[in-house]
Amino acid sequence: MGLISDNIQSFLEKIPENVQLIPISKTKPNDMILDAWQNGFKVFGENKVQELARKYEELPKDIQWHMVGHLQSNKIKYIAPFVHLVHGIDSFKLIKIMDKEAKKAGRILNGLFQLHIASEETKFGFSQDEIFEILDSREYAEIENVRMIGVMGMATLTNAESIISKEFKELYDIYLNLKSRYFQNNEDFKEVSMGMSGDYEIAIDEGSSMIRIGSAIFGERYK
Ligand SMILES: *Cc1c(COP(=O)(O)O)cnc(C)c1O
Repeated sequence: MGLISDNIQSFLEKIPENVQLIPISKTKPNDMILDAWQNGFKVFGENKVQELARKYEELPKDIQWHMVGHLQSNKIKYIAPFVHLVHGIDSFKLIKIMDKEAKKAGRILNGLFQLHIASEETKFGFSQDEIFEILDSREYAEIENVRMIGVMGMATLTNAESIISKEFKELYDIYLNLKSRYFQNNEDFKEVSMGMSGDYEIAIDEGSSMIRIGSAIFGERYK
């Protein structure tokens, strides 16, 4: 096995089976992704639409692609024909345009509500109340081709584990609230996407179902 597939394999060995690993290949060349693909790893995430669309074109079509970055609504059309899960949904407008583009593509698009749990101003995301408002609206009831399957969030960039774990706990609580209020009988709504290279262990302790790992698998990012 090559370097990247070794790194993915050793990650899989150290995380619980019920936690899904999403290797984040942003800024990395196709041959690194192909190395993993040849060893049977076929799920990857990217954070930029243009790079994601290009890699989709150039790489094997059985890769399951995740969009993890901030997504502008005018760019959804480029990834709607193939993307598996959009992690960072942070506006109702985005859901509506995803619905429209998914219909055009004849697909159902999966999405996660991104919550703003960090103390930094710059991180995107909803508050819990904003999501309640969307889910209570008549407009939301008309959405047909977007399937919301959970939540996503990013903790504050800090070395203070207590802060990170408090924020992940908060995200998990919001997930439970949404589940019991709106998705109780919906088996699809089960994902809590939290944890990156620096904080995935804490995230797993707090109930993560999906960790998004970039640099700990692919090495430092190219600029
Ligand atoms: C880049 C990125 C990751 C992975 O980050 P690492 O710290 O390199 O593991 C996870 N989530 C999002 C949204 C990202 O943009």
